[in-house]
Amino acid sequence: MLIKMTQEAERAQMEAVCERIRGFGLTPTWIQADAPVTIGAVGAADAACFKPMLEGLPGVESVVPITEPYKLVSRTLRRDPSVIRLGEDVAIGGGHFVMMAGPCAVESEEQILRIAHAVKQAGARVLRGGAFKPRTSPYTFQGLGEEGLRLLALAREETGLKIVTEVMTPEHLDAVCEAADILQIGTRNMQNYFLLRRVGAVRKPVLLKRGMSSTLEELLLAAEYILAEGNPDVILCERGVRTFETQTRNMLDLGGVARLREMTHLPLVVDPSQASGRRSLVPPLSRAAVAAGADGLIVEVHHAPEQALSDGAQSLTLEQFGQVMRSLAPYLAAEGKHMESAAAVAAGCSR
Ligand code: PEP
Ligand code: MN
Repeated sequence: MLIKMTQEAERAQMEAVCERIRGFGLTPTWIQADAPVTIGAVGAADAACFKPMLEGLPGVESVVPITEPYKLVSRTLRRDPSVIRLGEDVAIGGGHFVMMAGPCAVESEEQILRIAHAVKQAGARVLRGGAFKPRTSPYTFQGLGEEGLRLLALAREETGLKIVTEVMTPEHLDAVCEAADILQIGTRNMQNYFLLRRVGAVRKPVLLKRGMSSTLEELLLAAEYILAEGNPDVILCERGVRTFETQTRNMLDLGGVARLREMTHLPLVVDPSQASGRRSLVPPLSRAAVAAGADGLIVEVHHAPEQALSDGAQSLTLEQFGQVMRSLAPYLAAEGKHMESAAAVAAGCSR
């Protein structure tokens, strides 16, 4: 529910409203702190049943139920897009566009450092790379595990890039948190509610990938689990969904990207690599994602894709990645977005 206070409402009246909200077992949040103040009340699927009890309180102008099943992530609750800080000098959302790039998996020190330097040179601000890999077959490369995390931390130290890497189980959470600036929840774990709650209790941004057969509503409810635990910094990721089509690995849901913009205030990135499975499709899908409203891209890049231990067929070469970066400029300009740089964030960004 949104509780809209009158222009003249006094502080004590707002506090009384918050107290009543807590009394119902709900959590009050300040949606708009300047007069006229709006207070949010969430925490139960049927919170709207308390509407009549709040309407009569002094200083209350009106009470508006949030009719969607997801609340904290809803655009009804927060009209302005959320801007999420990635460390001190990078932000995503609300006009800040971030490029995340790197190999599917960390393979060796030489490999990750070489790719990290190249993607940084081309303008990426975040290095991707799996240390713990969720592979379809148990007989394929499963990632370097803790050693991979150590190499990502080294790449961060050498380049200053932020790190995004997948956490597959709560058991690894502490170790992944040390190496990562963003915790990736993979498509196979989008509905692992126990894991979602655990990353919700951590103060680190989370990149939440859409389940390969999940609806947009299910994606937003998964994000709601993380916010409900107190972590507001969720970045959604569209990475394609399963369909009958076999020419692409998954089907990039560009309509879903545009629709999510209307449904939620959370930033949203697109992964054209997992979506297509083919290197040749990554450049056009990257441009299309920007045009559909994405706040960033997460792209697989490898210096020698034919030798990659995972997802080589969909990995761009270093040169191709540079070309994609250059080709995005007019699309970003048309959307009123700018590629993140240290200077842009220093100029001012607010949550
Ligand atoms: C990946 O990013 O390499 C990956 C495994 O992604 P997804 O969870 O979207 O399949
Ligand atoms: Mn991959």
